[in-house]
Formats: sequence, structure tokens, C-alpha cells
Amino acid sequence: MPELPEVETIRRQLDALLVGRSVVGLRSTWSKSLTGRGVEPMDMLGRPVTGVWRRGKVLGLDLDGGVSLLVHLRMTGQLLLDPVDSDEASVEETSATRVVLDLDDGSRLVFNDHRKFGRMVVLPTAEVVADPLLARMGPEPLGPAFDVEALTVALRRHPGLRIKAALLDQGVVAGVGNIYADEALWQAGLHPERRCGALQRTGVVALHAGIVTVLSEGVARGGSTMRDYVDARGDRGGYLDVAAVYGRTGQPCRRCGTAVVKTTVGGRGTHFCPSCQRAPRKRRSTPA
Ligand SMILES: [Zn+2]
Repeated sequence: MPELPEVETIRRQLDALLVGRSVVGLRSTWSKSLTGRGVEPMDMLGRPVTGVWRRGKVLGLDLDGGVSLLVHLRMTGQLLLDPVDSDEASVEETSATRVVLDLDDGSRLVFNDHRKFGRMVVLPTAEVVADPLLARMGPEPLGPAFDVEALTVALRRHPGLRIKAALLDQGVVAGVGNIYADEALWQAGLHPERRCGALQRTGVVALHAGIVTVLSEGVARGGSTMRDYVDARGDRGGYLDVAAVYGRTGQPCRRCGTAVVKTTVGGRGTHFCPSCQRAPRKRRSTPA
């Protein structure tokens, strides 16, 4: 599932190629993949793209005249730009292709989504901030407002929640998913089952640094590819080549050599080093 680094990688590529281009045609083969909210998808036609932004795992295109397109890639969504006059193999439309946007220079933006959970939503730009998902999103972890205090405040709202589950909550920190949550906790030396309320300030400082470090590295390496993720050019991400724990069950910890363990926290597969990330001490008053 694409997380912040994957969506940011796509954003940067599209920002460089889409701004100034206009949508001149659109096709949708699955009605739920492209919908309008207050406006119709056809209202995109003829409006130049003025900006490409990201909030958490959500990608946004602003079009001239107050219309925006939100893209939620969810599980298996891919957003591919088929460039005009490319010598490289062009983007093939497949049985997973749900939406195609034709652009005025002859290029195409292709939305593939095998599992069909992804969504493209066209709406007035003025209503983007009130989008239910965006409105409750926590701070942007690579933005200036994300400091130790912001993370402290966010964690305090969930004192009984396990730290891994808190990181996956988009209301705590925007854009972190399963891969980078495990990586950030390893960086910080925190066991994924620690409760937010039990973290000391040194733990929050380490966690803040861990989140920023792994997401920055993820962006630098073009994101992570387990199965489906590719960037707008169709290339896989390289972060998992350097991941510390994610997908490395049984392999030696890069810090201490102890075998990486996989467990389940909050229903999600969770990787950690049992030596670097010590389990919380059991308290009789706390339910397991
Ligand atoms: Zn270790």
C-alpha cells in the first residue's frame, strides 16, 4: 500500500510534467474509480493543471478555475504518466486500467487499480480542506509543523494505544503506513507494543527523529515496492533494499545482529528487533 514516500515520489514526477497541461478527454471503465462531488468529472476538461500536491497518502491536482482532483491509491492503485514522444515503452492499458485522462500534448495519465479500492474524486478546490479524510489528518511528518511537541500532543490523545497502532492512525501522523511505522520504531529503539502513554520524552524525541529519517530515506529512494507500487514512470521503489526490519524476518538486525522477529500488532504484520526494541514490562493492571 503506497505510503508518504511513494505518493511523494509520484507527486514530484507529475508536478514536473503536468503543470500547464490540460485534460482534453477522459474514460472510466469502473464507475467507482472516478466520481464527482459537487462537480462532474467532465468539469476537468479544458482546465490547465496549476499544481500537484500531497497530503499524507493523498495526491491532489489543482486545475484552473477552482476544480481539484483527489487521488487515493489505496491498496493497488498505480498512477502512470505515458509521456508524449517517448522512446521508452509506452504505458499499456490493461484489465486493471480504471481511468485514462488524455492531455493536450498527447500524453496520458493512466490509473490502474487491480483491487478497485482506489478512488479519484473531482470536487471544487474550495471544498478540499473539508474533505472528511483530509480534515482529520494529523501533521505532515516532513513539514515544518511536525516537531517533537506536535508528536507529543498527538500521542497524548491515545495513552492506551500501542505505539505501532498509533503510527498507523492518520490522525496522529499523516502518511505513515505499515512499512515506515516498523522502520521508524526500529530507528527509535521502541518496541511496537509500547503504549503511547508510557513513552518518556526521550522516547518521543527518538520516535520523531525515526519517523523523519525513514520517510526522508524512503523519498530519496523512490519509495518501497512490495508488489504493486510503481512510480509515475512505471519504476519500482528502492527503499526495501535498505530497510532495517520490514520484510527481513529471521535476518540479522543491521544494528546488533539479532534475528528480526515478525509478530502481529493491531491486526497488522509487525517486524522488530527483540534486542534493540525491548518489550514493555508487564503490568498486572493493564490488560494484555
Ligand atoms: Zn537489533
